[in-house]
Amino acid sequence: METLKNCPVCNHDKLNPFLSCIDYTVSRETFKIVQCASCGFRFTNPRPEEKEIGKYYQAEEYISHSDTRKGLVNKLYQIVRNHTIKEKVKLINRLIPNSQPQAPSLLDIGCGTGEFLNACKKDGWEITGIEPSEIARKNAENKYGITPFVPERLFEISEKKLNVITLWHVLEHVYQLDKTIEQISRILADDGILIVALPNCDSFDARKYKECWAAWDLPRHIFHFTKKDIETLFKKYNFRIIEVLPMKFDSYYVSLLSEKYKNARLPNAQGSYNLLSGFWNGFKSNLLAGKNENGFSSQIYILKQN
Ligand SMILES: [Zn+2]
Repeated sequence: METLKNCPVCNHDKLNPFLSCIDYTVSRETFKIVQCASCGFRFTNPRPEEKEIGKYYQAEEYISHSDTRKGLVNKLYQIVRNHTIKEKVKLINRLIPNSQPQAPSLLDIGCGTGEFLNACKKDGWEITGIEPSEIARKNAENKYGITPFVPERLFEISEKKLNVITLWHVLEHVYQLDKTIEQISRILADDGILIVALPNCDSFDARKYKECWAAWDLPRHIFHFTKKDIETLFKKYNFRIIEVLPMKFDSYYVSLLSEKYKNARLPNAQGSYNLLSGFWNGFKSNLLAGKNENGFSSQIYILKQN
């Protein structure tokens, strides 16, 4: 384990305890989140060292890597994912209309098993993927003939020409936060678009489920961002948010999983779902997010360099 002494966003050294959470997915260990006294940023601290984090991903349930289709929530996840991928492709085409003679280029950091990249490739994009999990890389190769690079290769890219860089629920896992954003700013074309999707710990469902909120996902999520944190962090690299979009299915998925975690705390419980409350809170989260500043359970931040 390693303990950060300073806030990764503003470098302030006064950090207050915020929450303790159990890792329900893999280890059943308890981890802590602290909050910066200056900027309010929340992050997992202490956290496993980067070289030890691999063992916390070793669960069949970690679907983005293994692509299993077991269980109700996982089944729903797969259906929604197919729909979401189409929406993502529509989004990049809206942001970068393909009017140039060559295909527009896209780099997906943390591409998992390559579903999104495959959809982009079919749509005429020139694609590159980066993925730390060897299993996921092999799956991408076998299923779609896509060969993602290991994360170190990101820093070997030298040309400043990518039209779009995407991180779909990835930045909250990235240890080399500043180094990664700095490199992104170097290789994104001047008029390029950066898309960062993240859980939002200011959302209604985060507040509602507290330590049982599934999107804390400790210790795999080492950072817990709000819109304000994204603004402050990316400003250092001359990025500004030009648009924020909701991911409305995530509130349901996260609320259902949070219900499971909540029940799992009871003695002898098998972690059964309270489906109705999960759906209700997911619905409520979306409804309220449309009406206040706290935002949706998960959000897509679209950024551009000044
Ligand atoms: Zn701070």
